[in-house]
Amino acid sequence: MCGIVGYIGKRQAAGIVLDGLTALEYRGYDSAGIALLDQNEHGDIIKEVGRVENLRKRAVEADLPDATIAIGHTRWATHGGPSVANAHPHTNTDQTIFVVHNGIIENYTDLKTSLQNHGYVFTSETDTE
Ligand code: GLU
Repeated sequence: MCGIVGYIGKRQAAGIVLDGLTALEYRGYDSAGIALLDQNEHGDIIKEVGRVENLRKRAVEADLPDATIAIGHTRWATHGGPSVANAHPHTNTDQTIFVVHNGIIENYTDLKTSLQNHGYVFTSETDTE
C-alpha cells in the first residue's frame, strides 16, 4: 500500500516530506519519489527504485533549490513494474502539474487512449499518468 505526504508552508519542504515518507515505510513500497516547487514556480522531480533513504541521498546530491511546497509518494506497483519511470510523482510536459496516486484507475486504458489520440505522450506504464 503506498504512502502520500504533502507540504505547503514556510519551512523547507523536502526534509519534511522525506521524513513523512520514511514514517510510512511500514506500509510497504517498491519505489519512491518527490516533487518540489520552488518560489519561481519551477518544479523538480527526483525518483528512485528501492528505499526512501536512496531518494534522500539523491535529493542531497541534487542540491535542489529551496522549496516550501512538495509532494512525495512511496509506490506499490500495480500497473507497470518498479522503475524510475513508473515511480510517482508524474508530471505534464511543462512540469506545471504533479500527480501522485494510491490505488487503481479502472478505466485508465480508455482515458490514456483518448489522450494519446489528442497527441499527449506518456512516459510510464502506470494507470496514474
Ligand atoms: N496504480 C498505481 C501505480 O501502479 C499506484 C500504485 C500505488 O498505490 O502505489 O503506479
